[in-house]
Amino acid sequence: MPVLHNRISNEELKARMLAETEPRTTVSFYKYFSLDDPRAFRDSLYLSFGALNVFGRVYIAGEGINAQISVPQSRFDVFRQTLFSSHPALDQVRLNIALEDDGKSFWVLRMKVRERIVADGIDDPSFDPSHVGQYLNASQVNDMAQDPDALFVDMRNHYEYEVGHFENAIEIPSDTFRDQLPMAVDMLKDERDKKIVMYCTGGIRCEKASAWMRHNGFNNVYHVEGGIIEYARRAKQQGLPLKFVGKNFVFDERMGERITDDVIAHCHQCGTACDSHTNCRNEGCHLLFIQCPACAEKYQGCCSPTCRQELALPVEEQRLRRRGRENGMKIFNKSKGLLRATLQIPSPDDKTNDE
Ligand SMILES: [Zn+2]
Ligand SMILES: [Zn+2]
Repeated sequence: MPVLHNRISNEELKARMLAETEPRTTVSFYKYFSLDDPRAFRDSLYLSFGALNVFGRVYIAGEGINAQISVPQSRFDVFRQTLFSSHPALDQVRLNIALEDDGKSFWVLRMKVRERIVADGIDDPSFDPSHVGQYLNASQVNDMAQDPDALFVDMRNHYEYEVGHFENAIEIPSDTFRDQLPMAVDMLKDERDKKIVMYCTGGIRCEKASAWMRHNGFNNVYHVEGGIIEYARRAKQQGLPLKFVGKNFVFDERMGERITDDVIAHCHQCGTACDSHTNCRNEGCHLLFIQCPACAEKYQGCCSPTCRQELALPVEEQRLRRRGRENGMKIFNKSKGLLRATLQIPSPDDKTNDE
């Protein structure tokens, strides 16, 4: 019986990766397709990826695969052939190569079987997530943006929509993808004759959403191939006008990639035009919010006078205060009023969804 997991410590594995001299390519891909035996597929893919020294994080479910991995450059062609031939549904699957990445993000291969590749809360056994809408490439997206019969639907979170979105896109105002799915069906129930164009950051969420809309009787459902990331890349490459305005929010150091110069959001503290997200500097708060440079100075990077006061306390005192408070990321949400100035324990629905 071959070993299907790692027997070496994390530190040792990381040290080995850092000592490697060969450059790595970071690549991500996903695909919705039906797998009868996800565990068997996982085991065989683990062995073939392991033999190629692939690192990264792979999720496999009955509904498909979602992977972020790094591949030694000399093995890349073999890797591609291995992946394409691992299952008929994965032949020619679109690979997203990360350009601004040093390939050092992963030092071990983790491959897990999950219930879903994207949690959706759907119980309906007749729902087939691989029954997706039609892909739109960048120029087709632009055609849709001119089409009066087309309706763009943003399947991301509010804080993402707030700093950038497709012109005239509808927001589905919930903090979780699970809640957004039924909400989208309800909000669009009188628009069944329209062309519904769904999008998200990298495509994985909107693609499932497109299948859900079709399942609910919408016949003209489309989704932006590869999401905003791929749209922006292709549109720029082909010199097309950009129909996405503002910033594409992503969790990196820059908190997003600027797509156009338009600043469509506002500082949550003073209302001036601004689209820079930051986390409250008070570690006991860490709220994600938009703050302009003037307010950053005034509040010392904090979301409220209360947090600024707390930040000024001795470290030990801050630590004591943090105890018992719920951790986890909190996000500014207009509907919940301005920044929890009294730092109450956040409600459970503040949690965001992970992609
Ligand atoms: Zn401000
Ligand atoms: Zn705060």
